[in-house]
Amino acid sequence: MRKPKIVIIGAGYGGLMTTVRLQKLIGINEADIVLINKNDYHYETTWLHEASAGTLHHDKVRYDIRDVIDRSKVDFVQDTVVEINKEEKIVILEKGEVNYDYLVIALGGESETFGIKGLKEYAFGITNVNSARQLREHIEYQFATYNMEEEKNDNRLSIVVGGAGFTGIEFLGELANRIPELCHEYDVDFHKVKITCVEAAPTVLPGFDPELVNYAVSLLERKGVEFLIGTAIKEATPEGIFVAKGEDEPREIKAGTVVWAAGVRGNSIIEKSGFEAMRGRVKVQPDLRVPGFDDVFIIGDSSLVINEEINRPYPPTAQIAMQQGELVARNIAALVRNKTELEAFKFDNKGTVCSLGDDDAIGVVFGKKITGSKAAFMKKVVDNRSLFMIGGAGLVLKKGKFKVF
Ligand code: FAD
Ligand code: NAD
Repeated sequence: MRKPKIVIIGAGYGGLMTTVRLQKLIGINEADIVLINKNDYHYETTWLHEASAGTLHHDKVRYDIRDVIDRSKVDFVQDTVVEINKEEKIVILEKGEVNYDYLVIALGGESETFGIKGLKEYAFGITNVNSARQLREHIEYQFATYNMEEEKNDNRLSIVVGGAGFTGIEFLGELANRIPELCHEYDVDFHKVKITCVEAAPTVLPGFDPELVNYAVSLLERKGVEFLIGTAIKEATPEGIFVAKGEDEPREIKAGTVVWAAGVRGNSIIEKSGFEAMRGRVKVQPDLRVPGFDDVFIIGDSSLVINEEINRPYPPTAQIAMQQGELVARNIAALVRNKTELEAFKFDNKGTVCSLGDDDAIGVVFGKKITGSKAAFMKKVVDNRSLFMIGGAGLVLKKGKFKVF
């Protein structure tokens, strides 16, 4: 009898978790497993703010996919997915195509610019290793160029961050620690540097614990960050951005660096392939399959799972993507063994920790609020845990974070 072929696209948190669990659950004679990813490495998306600010080298945030998969069981293909033909059960790649019996879509998310003029052209994102390297280099270039010019252009030292969600705040935390180092390295007066965070909502970290939000804001303000709350970015230009509070006339903020950290959407491959989606995210069934397509699972940032308690989607996180990966592995193993009863996904929320640089953080863990070095330590525990779950103790020793305060 022909073995079924399981194809996993995307080797981020969701896809890699599915793969390492499946390779343990499924025997070599039961099914073929194929993992497809555009790079030969996995990157820790949750560490990209560090690589983007230059506080952690980008090679520290990535590792070789072949080091964590069982190559006797998993065929790894380095290629880029172009489209999914779900009717013919084919994944179309840049360099070929692959057919499947079961497909796991784990392609992650993309930056959501809400159609705001100029953002795609002039703002930097924090989305992958390439964008992180580019942003770090750009900020450094602005500092390096500042003293080269006879007529000093202070706008080179003005950095705007759009969005005070978790990504924006974590990036600001790293940036605030990096700026004094850059000033020292490039002989720039610290007082010339301007960091502005623009947030459309009435508060930083909307929906998060107000006491912890205050802690984060005052720490970042002390380090030189200025917050413009209830203010939206309306346009980005080569010279900076235009912002407006409510119905006010937009005003310009000159900046040599604009970072857009104000939202994510599902991967554009989802809509391109004709899946019914909301901002690129497919509302999946409880067993994480796509309604109407019993052989297709979607997990991670391209999936949408409703939190029944509040009747709103869970925010897309690595935590949920990894838990989904574990469940999909079990459900696919059941299908391969001709079982029809699949498990329903239930999110086990372990909490949230938001770093404020390497040495400080805020968080709610198992319902308890934490701040300062305790929270910073907890953040490293969380980071190391995800390495452990994918690559075991060996990967933690190779890539883990061990600095204690
Ligand atoms: P990803 O982990 O993003 O992986 C997607 C994979 O698909 C990548 O390997 C990519 O290269 C590949 N891919 C994409 N397109 C293609 C294609 N066309 N062809 C082939 N391969 C492709 N969440 C938390 O829970 N805790 C945190 O502390 C946290 N911190 C964060 C910090 C930052 C700076 C950011 C940006 C996000 C953070 N998140 C955090 C959110 C979290 O990173 C995402 O929710 C998570 O990465 C989603 O996992 P995923 O498997 O869906 O996608
Ligand atoms: P987000 O959607 O959570 O936050 C984006 C912020 O940008 C919001 O506060 C929004 O009000 C603001 N915004 C939107 N449009 C704007 C505009 N025009 N001008 C100014 N501000 C605007 O996005 P994110 O922070 O990138 O987070 C994405 C996901 O990743 C979330 O689910 C988040 O929980 C997760 N994440 C988690 C962590 C962590 O747990 N430590 C860290 C980073 C990201």
